[in-house]
Amino acid sequence: MKKTSYLSKTVEELKPSGIRRFFDLAAGMEGVISLGVGEPDFVTSWSVREAAILSLEQGYTSYTANAGLLELREEISAYMGQSFGVSYSPKNEIIVTVGASQALDIALRAIVDPGDEVIVIEPSFVSYAPLVVLAGGKAVTVNTKKENDFKVSKEELEQAITARTKAIILCSPNNPTGTMLGREDLIGIAEVAKKYDLLILSDEIYAELSYDEQFVSLAAIDGMRERTILISGFSKGFAMTGWRLGFVCAPEEITQAMLKIHQYAMMCAPTMAQFAAVEALRNGRDDVEEMRKSYRRRRNYFVHSLNELGLECHTPGGAFYVFPSIKSTGLTSLQFAERLLLEEKVAVVPGDVFGESGEGHIRCSYASSMEQLQESIKRIKSFLERL
Ligand code: PLP
Repeated sequence: MKKTSYLSKTVEELKPSGIRRFFDLAAGMEGVISLGVGEPDFVTSWSVREAAILSLEQGYTSYTANAGLLELREEISAYMGQSFGVSYSPKNEIIVTVGASQALDIALRAIVDPGDEVIVIEPSFVSYAPLVVLAGGKAVTVNTKKENDFKVSKEELEQAITARTKAIILCSPNNPTGTMLGREDLIGIAEVAKKYDLLILSDEIYAELSYDEQFVSLAAIDGMRERTILISGFSKGFAMTGWRLGFVCAPEEITQAMLKIHQYAMMCAPTMAQFAAVEALRNGRDDVEEMRKSYRRRRNYFVHSLNELGLECHTPGGAFYVFPSIKSTGLTSLQFAERLLLEEKVAVVPGDVFGESGEGHIRCSYASSMEQLQESIKRIKSFLERL
């Protein structure tokens, strides 16, 4: 008997990422300024690249331990302690992963049983809900609003909690809104997690890129270490997206569960990238600081310019995204982004790809050169004048 489809129902029902679809359109056009991609415009520091080259010259081309080079886990442990005041054992509470992406995947698969609910706060990074579904769970959305700087309240969270709720995914500084949660915000969310006995997957991949206030890790909040799965990596702060290197820190029991999945599904993260990351943590922090300052300058310019054009946005505390409202134009997010691309050759991401509550907004990344940002502002201005 012929099957109607070989594909899994779950996968068939997943929608492809809205970001990709848009960028395929932009890729075929010349002279486009892209404010779309979520990655640093810096090349990885030379000493970091050199460390990878050296590891190859020395012939380190085999697998590492499943959890990653112990040397790297020790550096991660020291780094997390020094920078964020959290303490994880390099031996059994840290796994080096293939990007924060894989860390998210193994974290969800380690904790979700079929039908378990995981709360996703939207607008959100595009992978969260699909990864929950792929792990067999149900993604429950909580929408946030521009009026509240896209922060979730305790009450909003509580309304979404049911007997099946297992975890909340938190992202600060946030993609796509740039919102950073302060200590008080985190304490509020922590109270909810404790009250309902929930885990929190805290995606702290943009921790290095905070501009106005000191970044606070959720795991550093009283009583949260034992219920936090802390996800981070080298892609953003260290400008290493292509190296595919992240890590996850969690209490031993959860780490060992994640390690089972990691060892069967991945074996280990790329060896040369791990050697590069050791160097990044030992000697690359000054470069991170320089990059942070540069993003901050660009953020200030870009946020100011968008507000002047009437595209209102709050000042994002971290990451490298601005999420202005385009409601005043009367266009939908998709119409705005499509027309801006076709008429002015500026690529931005329509806000609705990050969830329903992103409608009426666009995401712009300011990880572009100052010249490109200035040129894009000129183009957005002429686009708005014509509307
Ligand atoms: N988490 C967030 C919030 C992101 O924005 C991204 C990348 O855009 C990732 C995770 C994935 O990062 P990585 O390159 O480490 O897989």
